[in-house]
Amino acid sequence: MAKIKIDWSNLTFSFRKTKTMYMATFGKDRKWDTGCFLPFGNVSMSPAAGVLNYGQGLFEGLKAQHTRDNKIVLFRPIENGRRIVDGCKRLCMPEFPPRRFVEIVKELVRKNREYIPPYGKGSLYIRPCLWGTGAILGVAPAPEYTFIAFTCPVGPYYKGGMTPIKIEFTADFHRSAPRGTGHVKSISNYAGTMYPSKLAKSRGYADCAYLDARSDRFIEEVGGANFFCLKGNKLSTPVTGSILPGITRKSVMTIARDILKLDVREREIPVAEAMAADECFCTGTAAVISPIGALTFKGKTHVVGGKFRVGETTSRLYSLLTKIQLQEETDRWNWVVEVPVR
Ligand SMILES: *Cc1c(COP(=O)(O)O)cnc(C)c1O
Repeated sequence: MAKIKIDWSNLTFSFRKTKTMYMATFGKDRKWDTGCFLPFGNVSMSPAAGVLNYGQGLFEGLKAQHTRDNKIVLFRPIENGRRIVDGCKRLCMPEFPPRRFVEIVKELVRKNREYIPPYGKGSLYIRPCLWGTGAILGVAPAPEYTFIAFTCPVGPYYKGGMTPIKIEFTADFHRSAPRGTGHVKSISNYAGTMYPSKLAKSRGYADCAYLDARSDRFIEEVGGANFFCLKGNKLSTPVTGSILPGITRKSVMTIARDILKLDVREREIPVAEAMAADECFCTGTAAVISPIGALTFKGKTHVVGGKFRVGETTSRLYSLLTKIQLQEETDRWNWVVEVPVR
C-alpha cells in the first residue's frame, strides 16, 4: 500500500476523501443488513429517493484524535449513536442500534488510521449519515434506508490559540420552531441557515445566532453551536426543545458543575442578559469552545464583559475539556473511548 502524503501542518476544515467508508442497508425485510466497509466513492440512488425529495435524512459528527502517546481516542461516541436514534424516531426512519454504531465507528477509524493527523495537528472527523434511499412518490417514509459513515482529516480549529468571535443575533430569521425538528440533526434544518449565515458573514460576523420562534426574546443557538453565558458564578445555557442538544454542551455543563463548581442552569436567556454577561461562548465538536468577544442585535454591539478577549472561565473550560479528550486530565466519567489497533 502506497503511503499517503498529507501536509499535516496545513489541514483546514474542508472535504478530502479517505480510503474507506461504511455502508449498511435497511431493506424490504425490515432489518439492517450486516453492512460492509468499501472504498470511498459515490453512491447511487433513485431520483425518487425519500432523502432527495423530502429531506428524510440525518447526520452526525464526531472526531478521532491521536493522544500524546499515540493512542487513538473518540469522545462519547455512544451519545452520537443515541442522538441518531432520537432523530430516527422523529423522521420515521428505522433506528440504528447505538452500540453497533460505536463498533462501526471504531472499525472505520482503524481502517482509515493513516489519515488521523499526528498529535496536535488536528483530528479525523467522522461523518455518519442515515438517509431514506428508497423510491417514494407521495410524502411518506421511504421503503428503504442507507446508513453511511465516512471520514475526513481536519486541522485544529485554533492554530494560534483561541481568538474571540463576533456574533450577530438575527431579527429576520429563525432556525427552528417549538415542536419542530430543531432538536435532531435532520439534514432539513441546515440549508435554511446558510442564507442568514451568509448575510452575517458579509457584515463581518463569524456567524449569526437565533432567537426562539415563539417569543423572539430568548437565545437559541449560534448557527451550528450551542450558546453559554456566564455572570458571576452562574453559567447559563438555553433550554432544550428547539435547540440541538450538543454533546459538547452536555460535557461543558458537567465539567462546569463538577470541577469548576459553577451554578449551571438550563433556562430561557433574554438577549439583554447575554449582552450584560461577563463571558459568552459557544460549543460544538469542531471548535469545542469558541469564545464570543462581541454580540450585536438590531445594530447595537456589546463587547462581552467590556473587553474583547477570551474569558478566564471560558479558557479554563476549553483547557479542561480538550485535555480530558486527550487523556491529559482525569476522565472521571469514562467519556473517552480508546480505539485499539489490532
Ligand atoms: C451538531 C450541532 C451542535 C453541536 O453539537 P455537538 O454534539 O456538541 O457537536 C449544535 N447546534 C447544531 C444546530 C448542531 O447541528
